[in-house]
Amino acid sequence: MRLILVGPPGAGKGTQAVHLAAHYSIPHISTGDIFRANIKNSTELGKRAQAFMDKGELVPDSVTNGMVRERLKDADTQGGFLLDGYPRTVAQVAELDGMLSATPLDRVIELTADSDVVVRRLMERSIEQGRADDSEDVIRRRLEIYEEQTAPLTALYKSRGLLVQVDGLGSVEEVTARISAALNS
Ligand code: ADP
Repeated sequence: MRLILVGPPGAGKGTQAVHLAAHYSIPHISTGDIFRANIKNSTELGKRAQAFMDKGELVPDSVTNGMVRERLKDADTQGGFLLDGYPRTVAQVAELDGMLSATPLDRVIELTADSDVVVRRLMERSIEQGRADDSEDVIRRRLEIYEEQTAPLTALYKSRGLLVQVDGLGSVEEVTARISAALNS
């Protein structure tokens, strides 16, 4: 299974990705998680990404695309993968198409949630987890960028017949069940 999970910040991508990856025995590749791990370890890549992430801006493609390209060369991706947080722009779709030329995608899962719900969830998470980019103004910026740059990807993948849309509202178990049903239909 080669899957992409897309949806606004706070829709629950990370949580669902963990379930999906375990279910299909595929690696969960989250660009946000890779950036955060690099920041924690003070790597060069982390230093290049941090200022953008702190503001809620996208990390430049010159950093992000190469990072994903390298990750997709790892042996554990041979049997499939779940990409979470990539691609996020039309330009990244083109890059990914190039990386996957011989191994096409199976599905793109869009997790939907309206902005009131996601802002509330992210504010709660900021209290629980203290993620640096979960302050209210940065959350708003991330949502704006999602609407402008990432939301258009769903139409693109729909036109390729790959898109499945799943309502992200409800309990974790409910949403997981909806995703399974959508993937099996
Ligand atoms: P969320 O979906 O809640 O915004 P992520 O962990 O997916 O959280 O992303 C956090 C941040 O990491 C983004 O705001 C952005 O700065 C950076 N990032 C993650 N993926 C990408 C990407 N594909 N392209 C550019 N920047 C990215």
